[in-house]
Amino acid sequence: MTATAQTTISLDAPQDVTAKILSHLRDDHGMAFRTKADRHVFEQDGYRIEFALHAQALDVRLQAPNDNAMQFSKEGLVHHIAAIDPALAETIRWQGVAQKAGVAPSNFRLLTVRRSTLLFEGMQRVTLHYPDIDKLAAQGLHLRLVLPCDPTRRPVWPVMGANGAPVWPKGADALHARYVTLKNIRPEREEVDIDVVRHGAGLISRWAQEARAGQKIGAMGPVGLSALPQASSYFIAADGTGLPIVAQLLAKLPQDTKGDVVLALPDSLRAEDYLPPSRLRLHRLTPNTFDDSVLDVARELTNPGVGYGFFAGEFATAKALRDHFKGPLGLGKGQQMSTAYWRR
Ligand SMILES: Cc1cc2nc3c(=O)[nH]c(=O)nc-3n(C[C@H](O)[C@H](O)[C@H](O)COP(=O)(O)OP(=O)(O)OC[C@H]3O[C@@H](n4cnc5c(N)ncnc54)[C@H](O)[C@@H]3O)c2cc1C
Repeated sequence: MTATAQTTISLDAPQDVTAKILSHLRDDHGMAFRTKADRHVFEQDGYRIEFALHAQALDVRLQAPNDNAMQFSKEGLVHHIAAIDPALAETIRWQGVAQKAGVAPSNFRLLTVRRSTLLFEGMQRVTLHYPDIDKLAAQGLHLRLVLPCDPTRRPVWPVMGANGAPVWPKGADALHARYVTLKNIRPEREEVDIDVVRHGAGLISRWAQEARAGQKIGAMGPVGLSALPQASSYFIAADGTGLPIVAQLLAKLPQDTKGDVVLALPDSLRAEDYLPPSRLRLHRLTPNTFDDSVLDVARELTNPGVGYGFFAGEFATAKALRDHFKGPLGLGKGQQMSTAYWRR
């Protein structure tokens, strides 16, 4: 169910702050705004952001596909304003969906580890108890996991601030938050599987490898993508971090869907042991050659007739694929999504 929220931020020079936010959203997040007089509007996949400039105020109207997504949208907006002017971000107050300050964010849950196993070379599966996942599952397939930066500390979880964004503890109690994907959801058992790349020193990756039954972890969500839009054909590519979402998305496409899937898969893994049955042609790359090869493979496999382009993986590769989708393939808004899941 669509959620909306609105705020009016009083400030002397709304055009300066707006210009900074717009260039950040365009350059770092690839978000294209349409501008008409003093209004700037972004619209995609059920999300809408509108900035309307007045003499001494900035009106912001947000729309999101559901309440969880709205929570993240408001936090994002507050975060972008705080990066420019922290004191101004504190003054923000929202009309619409609102939560009292000082309470746990409505999308925050404590999840309990049931087990952690090596699923295949380079990938750890953690099974978590997620009490009300049956009610929440429709809100999206991604989860923001939260744990203390210092694993020896007793966690201090975020609470809502009056400006609509969670207040994150600082200093010794600082938290580390990263997104993962719900690979399997078993609502009848109140259980989910997340598959985490074993990649070295990352806190989340290390947590996954060392997780023991009974341990708790904070989680916000779920949020984000649930399925791909309908298209005549697809080009889909992902490294290990994008494998869980690709598996989920393939399972939701009609059986006769055409196209190509390029994935980072270790030689020891049989694709059918991880991916659902699909008519899309699978092209395998090894995880350590994926980033160097995937753009060339995309160029070989795609032409301007392709209906939809999807990529999930490293930041620089995501940018290269986005440029390929928007440039040579001519894919417009709503026809492509190339997302940085991590940054080297
Ligand atoms: C929407 C979304 C969904 C995601 N779903 C998944 C998922 O289902 N499974 C999953 O494994 N990841 C997923 N990711 C990616 C994951 O959030 C990042 O890899 C994250 O950086 C891992 O956090 P960390 O604490 O382990 O490492 P960080 O503290 O973030 O990073 C520590 C170091 O490790 C490097 N690093 C981070 N990730 C990798 C990697 N994959 N390979 C090599 N080096 C890396 C960083 O460059 C940094 O130098 C997703 C990301 C997004 C945005």
